[in-house]
Amino acid sequence: MQTDVLVAGSGIAGLTFALKAAEGAEVLLLTKKGRVESNTNYAQGGVAAAVAPDDSPELHLRDTLLAGAGLCHTRAVEELAREGPERVRELVEWGVRFSRERGRLALGREAGHSRRRILHAADLTGHEIERALLEAVADDPRIRVLEDHFVWELRTGLDPRSWRSRCTGAVALDVEGGRFLSIEARAVLLATGGSGRLYRHTTNPAIATGDGVALGYESGAAVANLEFVQFHPTALYPAGSQAFLVSEAVRGEGGVLRTVDGRAFLEDVHPAGSLAPRDVVARAIDLELRRSGAAHVVLDLSALPEGRFGERFPTIARACADRGLDVPAEPIPVVPAAHYQCGGLLTDWDGRTSLRGLYAAGEVACTGVHGANRLASNSLLEAVVYAHRAARRLLQEVQDLAPISGRDAEEPALARDGVDPVEVEDRLREVMWSRVGIVRSDERLEAARAELGELADRPVRSDGTGAAAMRARETGFLSRVAALVVRCALRRRESRGLHYTESHPHRDSERYLRDTVLAA
Ligand SMILES: Cc1cc2nc3c(=O)[nH]c(=O)nc-3n(C[C@H](O)[C@H](O)[C@H](O)COP(=O)(O)OP(=O)(O)OC[C@H]3O[C@@H](n4cnc5c(N)ncnc54)[C@H](O)[C@@H]3O)c2cc1C
Repeated sequence: MQTDVLVAGSGIAGLTFALKAAEGAEVLLLTKKGRVESNTNYAQGGVAAAVAPDDSPELHLRDTLLAGAGLCHTRAVEELAREGPERVRELVEWGVRFSRERGRLALGREAGHSRRRILHAADLTGHEIERALLEAVADDPRIRVLEDHFVWELRTGLDPRSWRSRCTGAVALDVEGGRFLSIEARAVLLATGGSGRLYRHTTNPAIATGDGVALGYESGAAVANLEFVQFHPTALYPAGSQAFLVSEAVRGEGGVLRTVDGRAFLEDVHPAGSLAPRDVVARAIDLELRRSGAAHVVLDLSALPEGRFGERFPTIARACADRGLDVPAEPIPVVPAAHYQCGGLLTDWDGRTSLRGLYAAGEVACTGVHGANRLASNSLLEAVVYAHRAARRLLQEVQDLAPISGRDAEEPALARDGVDPVEVEDRLREVMWSRVGIVRSDERLEAARAELGELADRPVRSDGTGAAAMRARETGFLSRVAALVVRCALRRRESRGLHYTESHPHRDSERYLRDTVLAA
């Protein structure tokens, strides 16, 4: 198969990029499950953008830099804050229906934001964005979408002009048909989302297996800052394999975190109390749980005006009711869960990775926006802003990226013997949760490195050619990304933002005010 541009992923980044790139190129978009299955579809809180009269890109920039603990790239955040309002207007033009109050866009408040700037569609923002973008894509004849098509590996070749390696397409698995396709493309955009499934408790759906980071790294693209894993402080307890998120916006409306015996413990930890930055809140909960032995803390909603919870958060209210909780009369039991990957494939401000012809946008990319800690609701915005920039750049470059046809890539071999992927993933998630979690130490990280190394040495068995083969490959991707997270974490011998280690509890800006970059 041939196309101008191959896109992997049908979340907000892949769809936005496809719509823009299709203005000047033919686009083939592959997605490994049904087209709505993405992290995007589960986003609740909303999209941050400086659109209020009392707000400005400068204030948004300031708040983002503060959250990022010194590691944000100022220029990347400037672009985000400046272009944000325009990209949000574009989402509205594509049909996204954000909530309104008295005719105006309703703006929510979340931790770390000095203004109300979170555009939302009740508490189903991601679902509404996904709906609108998928409709716009369906109306565009230059975009072809193939569901159940899994990018297995990237194709690379030597660029005859520069004699440097270039991405020339991908090998994909048709999951239903159980056969491999070789796709030749002038350029590839990875928009494959994050890697929450590395951890035992996560808010991320099953697709979040870190594929893009592994695919890019295996093909020679550099990755950065993978030690910064954001744990969301408030997942509904018990968390299960895909934890239900209780949005930070609930605390923005007045929800207060308390111990099970009613103490508002964050008041002693941070001046912003329950609305302290996420890393501070997650660490305080972790400490409280270890100290008390309790299974969870609670979110008390008694300060919210009557009726407000059900009206503003209908989905969360329903999820609580389904679990037999009488909220807001009763508090919500919550625990932290892995939520967001701040690092990823290193890109420039136009989505280009270090491998020519390979672009990345959305959660898979490390653009420099988040630094050591993502500010709430900046990720959907980053995805649209940087997908837009990547598409604009691609349209300038696409004619120079002449197709390189080579021999068809060899069909990947599937391991018939080896360890069951379920067994590998269970072990891997346990290691990541207990040794590479919210609070780390050199000793635990070294132990994780050894245990993950042993796991990676054993081939993962594939019991079939379709979904089973995809599962085995995803397990391999998880293994690869887990090892990269640990390598990055071991390199940063200080505590900063989301990376907190008991072995080096202080910030060391003299040595570590820089990205952790790994190149294959
Ligand atoms: C519960 C929850 C709530 C959130 N709330 C917010 C919020 O309020 N505000 C905010 O800004 N952010 C929020 N986030 C984060 C935000 O949703 C994500 O960062 C963002 O949606 C990522 O978009 P994306 O397009 O990069 O990836 P995704 O939306 O995850 O899409 C990835 C796509 O890639 C596909 N894919 C993956 N691997 C392959 C492969 N090998 N081959 C083919 N296809 C592949 C997947 O199937 C999927 O279609 C939330 C996340 C979660 C989980």
